[in-house]
Amino acid sequence: MGEWVYLNGEFVRKNEAKISVFDHGFLYGDGVFEGIRAYGGRVFRLQSHLQRLWESAKAIALKIPLSKEKLTEKVLESLRKNKLKDAYIRLVVSRGEGDLGLDPRKCPHPQIIIITDKISIYPEELYEKGLEIAVVSTRRNIPSTLNPRIKSLNYLNNILAKIEANLQGLPEAIMLNKDGYVAECTGDNIFIVEGEILVTPPIWVGALKGITRDVVIELAQKEGISVQERTFAPAALYASDECFLTGTAAEVIPVTKVDGRTIGNGIAGPITKRLIKKFRELTKKEGTLIYNN
Ligand code: PMP
Repeated sequence: MGEWVYLNGEFVRKNEAKISVFDHGFLYGDGVFEGIRAYGGRVFRLQSHLQRLWESAKAIALKIPLSKEKLTEKVLESLRKNKLKDAYIRLVVSRGEGDLGLDPRKCPHPQIIIITDKISIYPEELYEKGLEIAVVSTRRNIPSTLNPRIKSLNYLNNILAKIEANLQGLPEAIMLNKDGYVAECTGDNIFIVEGEILVTPPIWVGALKGITRDVVIELAQKEGISVQERTFAPAALYASDECFLTGTAAEVIPVTKVDGRTIGNGIAGPITKRLIKKFRELTKKEGTLIYNN
């Protein structure tokens, strides 16, 4: 883990990086966040992550107390200060300190926190063998209550689903929306392959507009693979030829078993493998440079 954490406008050592118990991020999950990756000295899609952070903040009427340019600089500075080239970056903006009531107007100072860490992802063999996951009973939040597009600090909906998966000994859960259509996983978007076509749920079903999802759609289109954003139910997932998840931490990872049903041939399929390769190539060459030399 990076030794230095950006907190309240300065860099402090991680064991001194503490927030107030009156911070509404802690008391109510009132805040927004991003998870970002750096590969080989470059931050991948930093501006897309900042754009989404700003959109999430706007949705909860939270004013981020730095400009995008300043925050870009602080993210890069955090990586330099921690001497990191390959990292996971957690950017948090919380409502800040208030009183014990909900009222955000009592929280005049939103708090920006930047934590950097070495990445811990799934072992490499799972990118060949694929994950076994399950559809769980916890439904994804409906957009009219807490829109899954908002990457807020309130992740209890996802955690409840994760607990269900964990109780079955599985690492991830597929969440359906209230109508029974596949929405997303607890921290990843989901894709299936039907014949030659790549299919992913549209965002309006109740999913985060994943940056990795967008990248995979771009890569597939460049590869001449047709992509459809449309709803599907678990039955279509069981019948699919390939399935994979996308997310900043997991990248592109195959799924080879869902609810005990083997997907395709039970190993990473050809389209999944092609997209994993293209994704890895892209992360090596694209991104905001952390160090100037
Ligand atoms: N869905 C959810 C609920 C997430 O929290 C995330 C990010 N961890 C994703 C999807 C994937 O988004 P991204 O590709 O931007 O990391």
